Amino acid sequence: MLEKFIPRLRVNTVYDIDLEALYAQGYRGIITDLDNTLVGAKEPHATPELVAWLETAKQAGFQVVIVSNNDEGRVSLFTKPLGIPFVHAARKPRRKPFRKALSLMNLSAAQTVVIGDQMLTDVFGGNRTGLYTILVLPIAAADEGVMTQFNRRMEKVILRRLRKKGLWHEEEQR
Ligand SMILES: [Mg+2]
Repeated sequence: MLEKFIPRLRVNTVYDIDLEALYAQGYRGIITDLDNTLVGAKEPHATPELVAWLETAKQAGFQVVIVSNNDEGRVSLFTKPLGIPFVHAARKPRRKPFRKALSLMNLSAAQTVVIGDQMLTDVFGGNRTGLYTILVLPIAAADEGVMTQFNRRMEKVILRRLRKKGLWHEEEQR
């Protein structure tokens, strides 16, 4: 059970992900969280750096879908200018929103990675859907809502147990 919270890869930011290596391994789809993964939770729009990264991902041969637990207003305002499909009010870690994203891309779980900043929603949900899970450090943890703050406390408990079992190594974070 505890293993389901372990990401396949840990990086500091989305910009540290080696997209070409993922492509070479057969991945074609990126399901990404929004808040504190792509931009801070209070940031309404994409930064120029993020716009460039999304373009790079497309050029590299990836389809991208944003899957967020946030509401339609927030997610559509952010996503529409980018021309990227999205799933809002996703209720991750449920499998349904991940499967919906896969069908939007017409890809299988084995061809798709999920990027997110939360172990309880993004990583757990991605792992149980059979996706390659990538955990990033949260961009602006100070701005998080009550539910996320609760999840962060749970993360700490899970991390403590994973470390105790020797399943989590600090030096892996890049
Ligand atoms: Mg997030």
